Amino acid sequence: MTIQRGWCPSLYEPMATGDGLLVRVKPPAARLTSAALRTLADAASQFGNGVFELTRRGNLQVRGLTPAGVLGFAAAMVAAGLADADPAIERHRIVMPPPLAGDDPAVPPGVLALAEAVERMVPPGLPPKFCVAIDGGGVLAGVPAADIVIDARNCTPDTAMWVQRKMRDAVGHARGVVQPARQPRSAIGFHRYGTGHEGAFGLGLPFGQTDAAGLLRLAELADRFGGGAIRTSPWRAMLLGRVALRDLTELRIAAAEWVLDSADPRLRITACVGSPGCDRASVPARADAGLLAAQGAAGRLHISGCAKGCAYPGGPVLVGEAGRYSRVENWRAGTAPAPQGLTLEAAASA
Ligand code: SF4
Repeated sequence: MTIQRGWCPSLYEPMATGDGLLVRVKPPAARLTSAALRTLADAASQFGNGVFELTRRGNLQVRGLTPAGVLGFAAAMVAAGLADADPAIERHRIVMPPPLAGDDPAVPPGVLALAEAVERMVPPGLPPKFCVAIDGGGVLAGVPAADIVIDARNCTPDTAMWVQRKMRDAVGHARGVVQPARQPRSAIGFHRYGTGHEGAFGLGLPFGQTDAAGLLRLAELADRFGGGAIRTSPWRAMLLGRVALRDLTELRIAAAEWVLDSADPRLRITACVGSPGCDRASVPARADAGLLAAQGAAGRLHISGCAKGCAYPGGPVLVGEAGRYSRVENWRAGTAPAPQGLTLEAAASA
């Protein structure tokens, strides 16, 4: 087992953080059955601290594992059908399929086969964070920032070969040429499939995070309203892909703990884990994000526990140092700003 201290952890290549080791689970086809969700929740509690983060690539990041627990956790993921037993195959899972493939009738069939074909062609030596994203169209058309973006609606029999050539061109480079994200208007709430009786429903995770108990409650929602499965997405939301129009009122009541309004400040404010989860943090970044959201803070803002800037999405940021904050409008993560010594409130309103 390799413990990574830099970027891009995977299931078998954990990253050391302040609260233990962090691994990523990439659900095949961005889909988890309710049974797989329950296995994931149990394994994360048994081998880690049960904290989950949904990443901007739609992966589930699991925190707080011990070195001895990593292989046990990985075995549980393989048994649940959420990972391959071969670490090399897991390392090559760089394709983000459309999250609603198989549920939204407008997403072209065959898109998952294309994703698998591309992953079989991944050459060694790609930049560490290299990502291929497939935009399937439909009610949640869009992709996160990625090195290669495929529009599934314009695919031809040559598309996989075209991607293979692009990947070969990127081999040996420190990083790819990242294509900007194309976001859907909002993933939150109900998205009807055409004029049919079903649609997708996006449940926002406050600050992109939940815990094992939260996953178990999502599994219940999947069973009651989603045909027994739930999807990850790159938009801080888990998606129920098969929600009946007639169930909407009941679903909104049952799902009230999740973010159901696209204007909710918990979607605009982002934060790293901060203290006490990360030993490099001097400020409780995520708890402070909660305080600002409760105060109705306007506008986009990221709160970073230290100058490393994990998961910094760009834009205005509060950077913690020695228990205080500095505010930077356009930050280059990894560079320490001149200390401003601001309180949270002063930095947020500066
Ligand atoms: S940015 Fe946040 S999570 Fe990353 S090392 Fe600093 S405090 Fe830890």
